[in-house]
Amino acid sequence: MKPRDRLRIAMQKSGRLTEPALELLNRCGLTFRQSRDKLFCFGEGEPVDLLLVRDDDIPGLIAQGVCDLGIVGRNVLSEFQLTAGTEAAPLAEWRKLGFGRCRLSLAVPQDLNYELPGQLEGMRIATSYPGLLGDWLARQGVKAGVVTLAGSVEIAPRLGTADLICDLVQSGGTLVANQLREADVLLESEAVLAGPAVLPTDERGDMIDLLLKRLDGVIQVRE
Ligand code: ATP
Ligand code: ZN
Repeated sequence: MKPRDRLRIAMQKSGRLTEPALELLNRCGLTFRQSRDKLFCFGEGEPVDLLLVRDDDIPGLIAQGVCDLGIVGRNVLSEFQLTAGTEAAPLAEWRKLGFGRCRLSLAVPQDLNYELPGQLEGMRIATSYPGLLGDWLARQGVKAGVVTLAGSVEIAPRLGTADLICDLVQSGGTLVANQLREADVLLESEAVLAGPAVLPTDERGDMIDLLLKRLDGVIQVRE
């Protein structure tokens, strides 16, 4: 395959991270021509293009070399790192970006009096993050059942398919609406710039260096 001479950055097509990610790239001096299919956006000034995809696909696209960098939640990046297997190219978090903040937390029904992870022994926990939850349980030395669900995790306790959940929390409003209470935090998350653990040393590597420098300027100004 012919090496690409333009840098390709993956970001969320439509969701919480879309607007702030685009704004950040704009502030780094990158602007894009809106393409009709909105999967691919051609960069106007610098040789940097965008790929607009589901956030869950971003780490895999970087690992496969389809994209050079991605803007994605630490929760999604870490889950990929824990579940991708050893044959996938290792990824790294190159910068934290200061938006999309949330926590991956345990949430329990109001009547479950949670104090210590040890209490979870033998319980069933519903989550979309089996890698992160499994890793945390192992570090706590707790054996619990992990029920993997793609969505609507917060209704699992009411349906009786799990005793508690492990899900993303921002304000806690969704939990309250489902009679759940945040009980423990597994991961503090925010949007990050993800890339390969080893950056390329060709012209694309030079472009990545330039982008990282500009990002540092922009992030510093904002802090
Ligand atoms: P898609 O898979 O279609 O790209 P999604 O539904 O998985 O979209 P969003 O709900 O837009 O994605 O969330 C994207 C990211 O925003 C999450 O992975 C997480 O890092 C961050 N985030 C911040 N607050 C929350 C929250 N309250 N709930 C879910 N994600 C949040
Ligand atoms: Zn998603």
